[in-house]
Amino acid sequence: MDDDHHYMSEALKRARQAADEGEVPVGAIVVCDGEIIADGFNRRETWQDPTAHAELIAVRRAAEELGSWRLCDCTVYVTLEPCPMCAGMLVNARVDRLVFGASDPKAGAVRSLFALSEDPRLNHRLEVRQGVKADECGEILTNFFRAIRKARRSDDDEHDERPLRRGGRVDEGA
Ligand SMILES: [Zn+2]
Repeated sequence: MDDDHHYMSEALKRARQAADEGEVPVGAIVVCDGEIIADGFNRRETWQDPTAHAELIAVRRAAEELGSWRLCDCTVYVTLEPCPMCAGMLVNARVDRLVFGASDPKAGAVRSLFALSEDPRLNHRLEVRQGVKADECGEILTNFFRAIRKARRSDDDEHDERPLRRGGRVDEGA
């Protein structure tokens, strides 16, 4: 197992924490000089914050830890391909390297829909590695959404008039 696989396992642990809290399971960590300096997992529902994506939380914490907004010596590991907001944020933070797990064909802005991290028109480019532990990173999302759909169906069966539980409102896609 290479270092990237090892660190992606750490990001996956954070994704599982998100699932435990009813959040779309995406996890992230920031590594600097071989050390995990910050982590985060998706908290959008809990915080009702549209910017509370895993990698954004992790990078914000890393900047706080380093006392600098420039993360030039850092590698960010995230279980799902970053969205346009987060891909832009990684460029702005001057992150050196990005490693992600599962691709996101619906919102991915690093390789799938856009290539924001490697656009020569921007003033900073990241080295990107994709597909590390992709199966595991994707599976945790699939299982999460499957469980939600199942819960919704059983709600329908009971003609339940109560508002949907928090998990039932989660948008698909992180
Ligand atoms: Zn994002």
